[in-house]
Amino acid sequence: MQNKLLDIFLAQRKISTDSRKIEEGAIFFALSGENFDGNSFARAALDKGASYAVISNPALTGERYIYVKDCLVALQQLACDYRKYLVLKIIALTGSNGKTTTKEFLLRTLSTKFQCLATCGNLNNHIGVPLTLLSFDESTQVGIVEMGANHQREIELLCSIAQPDIGLITNVGIAHLEGFGSAEGVRKGKGELFDYLLKSGGVAIYNSKDETLRNMVASREGLRAVGYDPERELLELSIYGTYNQLNAQAALAVGRYLGCDDGAVKEALKGYIADNNRSQVVDTGRNRLIMDAYNANPSSMRAAITNFANSAEFSDKVLILGDMRELGDYSKEEHEKIVELIANYQFDNVLLVGENFSALQSHFLSFLNASLVLDYLSNNQLDNKIILIKGSRGIALEQIAELL
Ligand code: ATP
Ligand code: MG
Repeated sequence: MQNKLLDIFLAQRKISTDSRKIEEGAIFFALSGENFDGNSFARAALDKGASYAVISNPALTGERYIYVKDCLVALQQLACDYRKYLVLKIIALTGSNGKTTTKEFLLRTLSTKFQCLATCGNLNNHIGVPLTLLSFDESTQVGIVEMGANHQREIELLCSIAQPDIGLITNVGIAHLEGFGSAEGVRKGKGELFDYLLKSGGVAIYNSKDETLRNMVASREGLRAVGYDPERELLELSIYGTYNQLNAQAALAVGRYLGCDDGAVKEALKGYIADNNRSQVVDTGRNRLIMDAYNANPSSMRAAITNFANSAEFSDKVLILGDMRELGDYSKEEHEKIVELIANYQFDNVLLVGENFSALQSHFLSFLNASLVLDYLSNNQLDNKIILIKGSRGIALEQIAELL
């Protein structure tokens, strides 16, 4: 069955998991979620031009249905088979913070020497990683695969699909505590990438100044590992935030390992301008915004706030922060710590948004949701400020940019 799927894929090269967006000839995978059964969209997908529909409901019959026990597992297996079929180097990266940014830096770095493709956007989970692999082709020399995880054994699964030759963990911080249980749980979960490389003989590239990463390498005897020191030189970057030095240095280290020319890489790193709500600088004419509304967890929040507070470039600084999601039992404590951190600095104004921040007794202005801040800002205009906007995606802070 699987090789039949691989043959069909090799003839079509197009996959769709959304019956509303079918490309002519694509193979539709009827993935199911908590609230929907993909099988019920299979007919529509075929009618809209899909060549085949991979389904798990035996009641659907017809030539263009491919029956499998589990559509997700079939997608993952197809990606795994295709990865074995392709002759290319795979670089996997995971970590608590900075994966997508590092991926963008890596793509630019390695493109100086190789035909290189990377994860689109943030497609980094059990569906996104297979789709990423299926987006590579015979001309791809290096494929860069971002791997996200919010619970144990997820990176293990993603590695078994992508079979990376090289792995990078950007850092191990405080994120997704709900699923990982504790900081130790996060270390273990991210460490599955190093476990895979140890088993497969792949190479780990790691920040040797990061004690946690150093220990993670040291505790895996026999792991082939290449350390780099991100503090040796300061790179010239066009992206906001000193923490992005670390992300760029990681890309440079992989570039050096693969023999890219240092000068060309440094030019490429400098050329990267963020446009994805991650450390993105937007001048509105009235204010300068640092848009970081894409995600937030305690370690990235801390990095963003201290970096912002310490940047000497501007005086009138305003913070607009949204709740950090997925923290489970740690939620209250971690939000309290952020409020304590803010109190150490002199910001012009601080607006806190979301249920968690609002539940705390703080002397900062707080709002239950983004639409209440919108109301506030329509009556209290901000002008000539530099404004850091950061929160979990669920808080949707990006919408307030319009009023600034
Ligand atoms: P996700 O888990 O959503 O995929 P990610 O790991 O891909 O996130 P990015 O999207 O690259 O991370 O960055 C998100 C935010 O994390 C940035 O805008 C910045 O605030 C913060 N961040 C980025 N790099 C670092 C870093 N090295 N250390 C701490 N915080 C960072
Ligand atoms: Mg990401």
